[in-house]
Amino acid sequence: MVEQEGDEAWIRQQVIDTALALNQDGLSQGTSGNVSARWREGMLITPSAVPYADLLPADIVFVDAAGVPAAGGMQPSSEWRFHLAAYSVRPDAAAIVHCHSCNATALACAHKAIPAFHYMVAVAGGHDIPLVPYAIFGGEQLAENVAEGLKARKACLLANHGQVACGSDLPRALALAHEVEALAAQYIKALAVGEPKLLASDEMDRVLEKFATYGQQWK
Ligand code: 13P
Ligand code: ZN
Repeated sequence: MVEQEGDEAWIRQQVIDTALALNQDGLSQGTSGNVSARWREGMLITPSAVPYADLLPADIVFVDAAGVPAAGGMQPSSEWRFHLAAYSVRPDAAAIVHCHSCNATALACAHKAIPAFHYMVAVAGGHDIPLVPYAIFGGEQLAENVAEGLKARKACLLANHGQVACGSDLPRALALAHEVEALAAQYIKALAVGEPKLLASDEMDRVLEKFATYGQQWK
């Protein structure tokens, strides 16, 4: 199980910086979306419905493994259940980013997963970026659906809602959310041009194998 490096104060600030980046990079609108980092036996997560620009490190909420938030603090994100569920199915994840980015959300509203139309789909760890069924935000059913979607992938689309991406740290989780959004935009354009030609399963296996040794292998 990985944990982010750094002390608690630094991670609280990194959660805020990641949430601010969601707004600044155009991945989220207003207070939609949420961000967490694994911490001790639980996680540090953005509070519910507070504008990211107003956040102070003390506002980031510690939620323990049983879902109990620290006493006297703000209410945690309404999606604390799916963040905890994601950490429990992905021991390699130390950070989670959820957002309603435009193109990923458009596909999710059409109930379309992202298939192997481009080799970069493998950045999420498999042959596609799956779509999980709709369930109301903040609920236990959505947490179960997200856990199912992330069991074998680092990112998934949430029907009629948005996307979730995880990583071994916050910058990597944010980078994957960007990549999912870019792939969603490209897939929508490819659909508009005609029927995208999908890569074969054995070719995606080769890409996944190549990704295992691609770039700088610091983690
Ligand atoms: P929170 O502000 O409670 O995190 O909710 C935002 C959201 O995106 C719910 O899915
Ligand atoms: Zn949401």
